[in-house]
Amino acid sequence: MHTKAIGRNLYLIDLETGGFKNLICSYVLRGEKTLLVESGPTSSVPRLVEGLKELNVKFEDVEYVAVTHVHLDHGGGAGTLLKTLPNAKVLVHPHGMPHLVDPTRLWESAQSVLKYVSEIFGKPEPVPKDRIIPVSEGVFDLGGGKLQVYETLGHASHNLSFLETFNNGVFPGDAAGTYFPEFDAVIPTTPPPFRLDAALASLDKLISLQPTALYYSHFGKASNAVQQLRDYKTQLQLWGKIAAEGVREKRSFEEICETILEEDKVMNQLADYLKGHEIYSLTALGNTVEGFIGYAKNVEGLN
Ligand SMILES: [Zn+2]
Repeated sequence: MHTKAIGRNLYLIDLETGGFKNLICSYVLRGEKTLLVESGPTSSVPRLVEGLKELNVKFEDVEYVAVTHVHLDHGGGAGTLLKTLPNAKVLVHPHGMPHLVDPTRLWESAQSVLKYVSEIFGKPEPVPKDRIIPVSEGVFDLGGGKLQVYETLGHASHNLSFLETFNNGVFPGDAAGTYFPEFDAVIPTTPPPFRLDAALASLDKLISLQPTALYYSHFGKASNAVQQLRDYKTQLQLWGKIAAEGVREKRSFEEICETILEEDKVMNQLADYLKGHEIYSLTALGNTVEGFIGYAKNVEGLN
């Protein structure tokens, strides 16, 4: 079993990408219409399809595949998935749409940023243009409940969050960080080109929705949503302060990383786990810190 009911009309599918449990998930929302949140990466599409079968979802009944953004781990598998779902359309931010239609540049940049991790995720296949609905804000009626779309930039210049009205929970994509259910802890996911100001504004927008739950793509459901969002905001502000000081005082990447691990209690608690993890050692302790340094350099006019 790799599916789980996590709310009214709502199911989680663990994609177990690359054999890693609790790394990436997709969600199934079932009103009169069926909607998926996140296609996940190309390599996990077979797993997602198995999950749909386990939930007795008929492939022709899936109306929408909503992707929070086009990074490989969230929307990379959309083109491959649509071959199995004959009637589904992909919801994506207009700025993300060109990368679904022609994923060439997305794949090239993923290979240079994510290195071996991009191979674990797999190469994205194109999505036919006529099967995409570009949306930055809007409402989709699913029959019995709705999906409301919010633009929540910062992590990416096209990250969307979705609120579902069956349970009043939010799918933040990567706008609310990475959640580790084993530790009940959240850490930043802020690869370049990260925008701290936009990320903080997005968190305010999500807090104002007063959601009852967050459904993280990495990974799973957290019930104390507003507190999690507030804590994440505080954490981003701390990292922002450390990166700005580090850049001003010309500290090395390693020194800035060390300061974060010392001053951020959550990072401190997770340090050994992250350092030993094949994927998080590269992303959480590498790309994420680089995103903050890049943002700080821009603010200081050093880029
Ligand atoms: Zn992600």
